[in-house]
Amino acid sequence: MRPTGRLHLGHLVGALGNWVPLQAQYDCFYFVADWHALTSDFADTSQLTSYAYENVADWIGAGLDPEQSTFFIQSLVPEHAELYLLLSMVIPVPWLERVPTYKEQQETLKDKDLSSIGFLGYPLLQTADVAIYDARFVPVGEDQVAHLELARESVRRFNNFFGAVLVEPQPLLTKFGRLPGLDGDKKMSKSLGNTIHLSDSADEVKKKVMRMYTDPKRVRADVPGTVEGNPVFVYHDAFNPDTAEVEDLKARYRAGKVGDVEVKSKLANALNTHLEPIRERRAAVLANPERLKEIVVDGSRQARVVAQETMARVRDAMKISYR
Ligand code: AMP
Repeated sequence: MRPTGRLHLGHLVGALGNWVPLQAQYDCFYFVADWHALTSDFADTSQLTSYAYENVADWIGAGLDPEQSTFFIQSLVPEHAELYLLLSMVIPVPWLERVPTYKEQQETLKDKDLSSIGFLGYPLLQTADVAIYDARFVPVGEDQVAHLELARESVRRFNNFFGAVLVEPQPLLTKFGRLPGLDGDKKMSKSLGNTIHLSDSADEVKKKVMRMYTDPKRVRADVPGTVEGNPVFVYHDAFNPDTAEVEDLKARYRAGKVGDVEVKSKLANALNTHLEPIRERRAAVLANPERLKEIVVDGSRQARVVAQETMARVRDAMKISYR
């Protein structure tokens, strides 16, 4: 995860919620991709390290466990850069230019300078991030499938030249699609300012929910409303465990027999019940910055041992080993 801001409900359903149960099944590595944050935000790095720590606190808040999984910071494992460099000797530039997000993001993020080598190369840096741990699976959403395709092709090309050195990673697709934004946009996203953060107070959550976009045709409570695609109900489905309450609200909404205030108040309550233990855990983690630092430094040291073993193998295979 890139430390470009605080984590929000989209990250919870689209990433963290999926990562937590994987811990019991796999040997998991989770990292703060601080170099990746530079691919689009190199001009202002003032908040990068504080976001990095906050993101790790958010992970622990959401249920990731540094005792069970390896947490690390990308730049504390410089071998990622070495593998990226070696891959860059082998991978043709047009492969990267063809990655769909390359042109898409250059067009949509007009206020950012995305003409750098770093931005073009970031899917290859991701390839190195994954391959350096011999990772067989990467838990991702649909938006990252093309990047993993590039990772597999790059690994195959590399292995064709140097032997079976690197492992081809497969996506472990997240079931949950995209969480819409508070404004009804199809994606909750920091850059759109339509988010509820895991760090928001109960009061902030309530205020944001009360201002949420809902069915614009419903000018009064007695006008029948549309539930499908309505973000208020998408959130109810995602976060309110009381399905009887949700079904009752939907039925009355469709019939024009419930006010927005009731639907939204119940959503705010459900969200706050869901977020309260996360908020408490993240606050406890942030209250002990020395321990938090220790978690990422220790995890990075452990990750580095694995990365160094892979790089020794890679250098041997490429015959640039001077041991
Ligand atoms: P980002 O911070 O936008 O780079 O997102 C990191 C990852 O979090 C994405 O690859 C998605 O898997 C997930 N994610 C972010 N926003 C959402 C959202 N609105 N709905 C679902 N998943 C999301």
